[in-house]
Amino acid sequence: MATDKKIALVTGANRGIGLETARQLGQKGITVIAAARSLSAAEETADKLKAEGLDVVPVKLDVTKAADREAAAKFVADHYGKLDILINNAGVGDDLFNQKVSETSEEELLKIFGTNVFAVVAVTRAFLPLLKKSDAGRIVNLSSILGSLTLHADPNSPIAGVKAFAYDASKAALNSFTIHLAAELKDTKIKVNSAHPGWVKTEMGTEAAPMEIPEGAQTSVELALIGEDGPNGRFIHLGQELPW
Ligand code: NDP
Repeated sequence: MATDKKIALVTGANRGIGLETARQLGQKGITVIAAARSLSAAEETADKLKAEGLDVVPVKLDVTKAADREAAAKFVADHYGKLDILINNAGVGDDLFNQKVSETSEEELLKIFGTNVFAVVAVTRAFLPLLKKSDAGRIVNLSSILGSLTLHADPNSPIAGVKAFAYDASKAALNSFTIHLAAELKDTKIKVNSAHPGWVKTEMGTEAAPMEIPEGAQTSVELALIGEDGPNGRFIHLGQELPW
């Protein structure tokens, strides 16, 4: 049942950057598995993109739920026998700019790390055997420039003083995951990178964001399609490397 066509799975594909990433990958002739927290949201997304002529298949995947991860990986194994591209896009920010260290509860930290870090590790582990069956496996972790410790530590950087502690720390931890996994997989055909999409007009990014969603999906799509000589274990925004 292994197919020559590339197979991509996008988490949180029902809206925002995930939906547009699914669309742009579909427009490249890739079969896209649109994964969303609920089956109805995944189906609605797949129907919308299929109406645009794209090859899109819905899958229920609440990234924090082990049963969903196992079922989704089994679905991909049974139907395609491999996975070429995993876009770990699903993420939460909550009350993003109101997360001072002194005011962030343990519950809030667990919630944000649960989705942005622990679930990404678990989703990636679930799909790793299928990614290893690809000729060119690509893993893209949706990070944020707010996860850059180097920029936070620089008083002159544009993000210095941003008080999104739980979110920023979760993306810094996600970046650590990217570095560790890329090192572990260096002798395989899989490449793993962190993407900063830009500050994008989505529910999370808000209307104040300068970047429109199509451009916001560009970094994820580029990293999904890099060749053998492309970056590995890097933090990238629109082709430019960011400091960790
Ligand atoms: P949105 O808030 O618009 O969308 C978030 C997506 O993640 C939704 O599809 C949501 O699903 C999904 N999601 C959240 N939790 C889960 C879960 N447990 N299981 C499955 N899906 C889940 O965010 P964006 O599109 O803006 O962000 C996408 C990624 O890009 C995130 O990782 C974010 O941190 C990152 N990013 C965004 C920036 C921006 O400016 N927008 C800047 C830097 C990084 P549901 O509809 O069910 O809630």
